[in-house]
Amino acid sequence: MENPILDFLYLVCIILFIIGLKRLSHPDTAKKGNMIAGFGMGAAILITMFYPMENESNNYLWIVGGLILGGIIGFTAAKKVKMTAMPEMVSLFNGLGGACSMLIAAVEFYNLPEGTPMMSTEVLTIIFALFVGSIAFTGSIVAWGKLDGFLRDSLVLPAPQVINIIMLVAVLVLSGFIMVQPELNFTLVIILLIVCLVYGITFVTPIGGGDMPVVISLLNSFTGIAAAGAGLIYGNQVMIVGGIIVGASGTILTVLMCQAMNRSLFNVIIGGFSGSGSSSGSDREQVVKEASHSDTAIQLKYSNKVMVVPGYGLAVAQAQHICHDLEKALENEGVEVKYAIHPVAGRMPGHMNVLLAEADVPYPKLLELEEANEQMSTTDMVLVIGANDVVNPAAKEDTGSPIYGMPILDVELAGTVIVLKRSMRPGYAGIENPLFFGEKTKMLFGDAKDSLGKLKEEVGNA
Ligand code: NDP
Repeated sequence: MENPILDFLYLVCIILFIIGLKRLSHPDTAKKGNMIAGFGMGAAILITMFYPMENESNNYLWIVGGLILGGIIGFTAAKKVKMTAMPEMVSLFNGLGGACSMLIAAVEFYNLPEGTPMMSTEVLTIIFALFVGSIAFTGSIVAWGKLDGFLRDSLVLPAPQVINIIMLVAVLVLSGFIMVQPELNFTLVIILLIVCLVYGITFVTPIGGGDMPVVISLLNSFTGIAAAGAGLIYGNQVMIVGGIIVGASGTILTVLMCQAMNRSLFNVIIGGFSGSGSSSGSDREQVVKEASHSDTAIQLKYSNKVMVVPGYGLAVAQAQHICHDLEKALENEGVEVKYAIHPVAGRMPGHMNVLLAEADVPYPKLLELEEANEQMSTTDMVLVIGANDVVNPAAKEDTGSPIYGMPILDVELAGTVIVLKRSMRPGYAGIENPLFFGEKTKMLFGDAKDSLGKLKEEVGNA
């Protein structure tokens, strides 16, 4: 259905997506970028309504009803969600995107006119969108469950790699079988859909622990690819380009995440990494040294350079603003303060950058992993705030550790390390952290927001 004016408007929407994406790459412009891309998406939906519908104009009732209902649910969920629960929401929304592509593909197969050749690009595209969409759907729901905690990492299938290879072969054979049928066979498509849904579950279930960021971003790229597939079914440019943008950016992010964790994607997928890995605890009696607020404040005040390592606990405590206040108090005393940002700190890509930007911490103070590590030996004090896995030396030293090989922040190279957390409980990967027993380390127990508040007060008084 050619319509040059509507096609031109689609092109404008696509340009808005690209400008939005470009602006998302820097914290200063990210908010505007998000709004521009969102505006482009809203406009694309409206423009699509003006494409003439072939039959049944009362479909508009369904479309508008769906838009209103979905809009209300999405708006309320986004308003209510806590910053720390964002990854769960992203996973859930991602899964719904996959489900949309899957349903579109199933419906369009059902609607194919009698006599459509099975060996055609049309049928191939439908099967592709169905396959990728359903894996993205159930895979994201499992990822959501794991992040939310109602599905445990210890829930491991027996011989997961074997099961996954069998499932993949089953999907490919069934897809091929559908395409060699003499005529359209909807029952086989339903069977394929069920097998793909189960494959999504078996694919993600064995992955866990520190590999979750990678799998989330991989599923995100699957959803994009599935949406592009659905766009191909309709010949809808904006869906194709939007899907490709999500697919490509998700893939790039997946590769970057793998590099950050020093793991190959293949290893993540078949590795079945789980928080229950066999990190060797030490047999020696381990002693923990406790710090007091006043001593820590004095030591901070007399430091030349302090490095803050924020982690998931900073987000839980919502301590970003008070952390920035402490940083300003220290700078007033002539102390240089920097932040060391680990790429997988927190629970979503860029989590720490977003938190600190929210508290107006100047972006140049944020150092990436390598740069931060280069400066550790010239740092007097490190404040580890609610971080655990990203500073765990087991990643370098313990070959049996589930996080072995992941680059970490080498905080033990600094003069003193103060760890702010509430207890000796492990972090996301569920393993002990030898850093806490290190010679240079002292623990400052308590909620990060409370502890930072006290430190700031003491720095002012000291
Ligand atoms: P961790 O999950 O390793 O540790 C967080 C620590 O914060 C806990 O040990 C906890 O200890 C402490 N904490 C929790 N609440 C508070 C509070 N109110 N005040 C003070 N401390 C608190 O976090 P990291 O950031 O070091 O590492 C991130 C982990 O999450 C990595 O394993 C990463 O792979 C994984 N991950 C990352 C994702 C991403 O995209 N960034 C996505 C999914 C997983 P205590 O209970 O004793 O206070």
